[in-house]
Amino acid sequence: MKLTFHGGAQVVTGACYLLETKEAKILVDCGLFQGKREWRQLNYEDFPFDPAEIDFVLLTHSHMDHIGRVPKLVKDGFKGKIITTNPSRDFSHLFLLDSAHLQEEEAREVRRDPLYGEADVEASMKFFQGVDYGGKIELTPNVKCRFTDAGHILGSAIIEIWAGGKKIVFTGDLGNPPVPLLKATELVDKADYVIIESAYGNRNHETFEERKNILEDAIEEVVANKGVLMIPAFAMERTQEVLYELNELVEKSRVPKIPIFVDSPLAIKATAVYRRYENYFNQEATHLIDSGDDIFKFPGLEMTVSGQESRKINNIPKPKIIIAGSGMSTGGRILFHEKLYLPDPNNKLLIVGYQVKGTLGRRLLEGEKEVMIKNEKVSVKAKIQAVGGYSAHADQQKLVHWLDHLKKPVQQVFVVQGEDGPAHALAQKVNDELGMKATVPKLGEEVEL
Ligand SMILES: [Zn+2]
Repeated sequence: MKLTFHGGAQVVTGACYLLETKEAKILVDCGLFQGKREWRQLNYEDFPFDPAEIDFVLLTHSHMDHIGRVPKLVKDGFKGKIITTNPSRDFSHLFLLDSAHLQEEEAREVRRDPLYGEADVEASMKFFQGVDYGGKIELTPNVKCRFTDAGHILGSAIIEIWAGGKKIVFTGDLGNPPVPLLKATELVDKADYVIIESAYGNRNHETFEERKNILEDAIEEVVANKGVLMIPAFAMERTQEVLYELNELVEKSRVPKIPIFVDSPLAIKATAVYRRYENYFNQEATHLIDSGDDIFKFPGLEMTVSGQESRKINNIPKPKIIIAGSGMSTGGRILFHEKLYLPDPNNKLLIVGYQVKGTLGRRLLEGEKEVMIKNEKVSVKAKIQAVGGYSAHADQQKLVHWLDHLKKPVQQVFVVQGEDGPAHALAQKVNDELGMKATVPKLGEEVEL
């Protein structure tokens, strides 16, 4: 059996792992490279394998760095089955269509053919098959897999694969419990090989309570300063989690009622998918829903769909809160708000998600005082604050704890989906503290299992 790292190796994005067994060729994730131009360039290159020969694509979750090249795979000849959880299938449809529009936009700017278009996304959806957590799925008579709740985003999964008498476990992205809405990351009891993420392989987050206090303090601060609180958030998860917590803060009168805008058509559509899968929520959220509370609706909250409604937000007097995409400030409506409000020291930008190197969000996080937004220089005087506790990713201690639960021996741990520093820090820690052999594979590296 052979495993090749075609993405997510010494880089956070582009997750794509090819497992070749005697009976089937299985691709786990087929994500987009994001961030720096040299990485994004990799998206346009031919796959280093023949897509027509792939029998199965198993998708851990619907983030773009895990699904974003699926339409290209189909365009290039893939005809197998794409298996993922039911919510991930629905989100994939939504986010891939959005991605197709972004690809078309980017292609016009750089005058090249887009990576794929809307028709390729629709063609891809025909290959999707949605499954639930927990059941073993027979791919071939001797190759089986199972999706287990990763607690990272709604529908996210750890994928366990049994093949050739061995068990290989792909963590996808692991969650950061406890979080609003989602169930905790499930533990896996056994594995011969583990492919584990490491986005925060060298850091530990604030606790759940601390992060809620940070949000509360941030709101109180902009109220006192009559400023604007901007929260760049991806259309799913961070948006819904922040809303869930705002719902509580507002309804318990812990913060004054001020206008709150969710300025992202995609986030509004994603929230509708959430409502379809309430059975995937954790107990606390389920209780709240059962008690009659609409967790995505509270006084002051407004969802703005059209561009006209979005522009009107600027006329609303401060203080106010604006949640808008994209989560790493690489596009979307947040850019208009950032351009307008970053130059004012009374305003605040609260960063709640992971910021890939090379993105505007990362530059703001690192304290740059002047940035380019839509070809204009913008001076950054607003306060920038990051809340790691909102991260959807497990931190170092949670990753180590998750691995520690596995029955020994584990033959080898491959550390992926992290920048150099975090990936090596985690590998070192796993070697030292758990006594497991852990390495950081290179892009294109092949290993015999
Ligand atoms: Zn993810």
